Amino acid sequence: MEALVLEQKGVLALRDIDLPADIGPDDVKIRIHTVGICGSDVHYYTHGAIGPFVLREPMVLGHEAAGTIVEIGSNVKGLVPGDRVCMEPGIPNLSSRASKLGIYNVDPDVRFWATPPVHGVLTPSVVHPAAFTYKLPDNVSFAEGAMVEPFAIGMQAAARARISPGDVAVVVGCGPIGIMVALAALAGGCASVYVSDFSAEKLEIAGRYPGIIPVNIGEQSLNDVVQAGTDGWGADIVFEASGSAKAYAGLFDLVRPGGAVVLVGLPVQPVSFDVSGAIAREVRIETVFRYANIFDRALQLIASGKVDLKPLITQTFDFAESIAAFERAAAARPTDVKLQIRMPVGGN
Ligand code: ZN
Repeated sequence: MEALVLEQKGVLALRDIDLPADIGPDDVKIRIHTVGICGSDVHYYTHGAIGPFVLREPMVLGHEAAGTIVEIGSNVKGLVPGDRVCMEPGIPNLSSRASKLGIYNVDPDVRFWATPPVHGVLTPSVVHPAAFTYKLPDNVSFAEGAMVEPFAIGMQAAARARISPGDVAVVVGCGPIGIMVALAALAGGCASVYVSDFSAEKLEIAGRYPGIIPVNIGEQSLNDVVQAGTDGWGADIVFEASGSAKAYAGLFDLVRPGGAVVLVGLPVQPVSFDVSGAIAREVRIETVFRYANIFDRALQLIASGKVDLKPLITQTFDFAESIAAFERAAAARPTDVKLQIRMPVGGN
């Protein structure tokens, strides 16, 4: 089957590759329609590894996907051929202790698309467990369906934060995930969300959403802005979504006594932070790794119109232009939020 294959660091090819096509009793086969390009896909392309996950053999990229069911296994209920769906890219061992606890995202045996050695889905079709395949509401397009995966990370962050109605939040970092976190926090009840970055272009895009207050940290101190906006009390919740070690300097100054700091961005290096300062104000620290039990609710929010992810899809490429799409994504233009690739099938 033709696929976008990362041959080795920096080398992509659109070529035929053998992929598992056998459908088990609990699986569905999906014809892929749209795949979003994630920062992690780009990182494998440019660096050949993320932390302990090292590319050793050619791997198909892509894990943010939506498509149409073309075949179902004999045990599958609730899904039929023709259903438009999006897929959760992590496949846990359902009998693991983590799965039984409902935290299947941290199952040590999880197999995650486009994470070596597991192939991704930039290919015309894929076989996937029905349990991790979600029907798209009629008013949710394939393009939006392919946004559910990154949005689910924002939703997981909002859920970990335990937002109370009217909370004021800060999101450090205005990349796609930072924006998703801010939108999920607003949908979860935050009154306003300060989003910080150095990039005026990124902040301009985020600032179009009501409730998001962009803060350009090249021009202003984030802490000054947050303290001024909260009468010196601090934000109820601070989300770290930049993954930058530098962001940890002063991170805990932003949060109010008894507030929460939610760590979403993955720093490449170990970072140090002000533990005493955090303890002195009894700050609750939460971490976010992917998501669990989120996709259904993410789809409900998108279908309700409360969260509109469409403005974040800044460019769509045909499958035949996949390599150009990845070069564009690797260039990291500040006006690009989410780039998507569309397979050569019709429909929306
Ligand atoms: Zn992703």
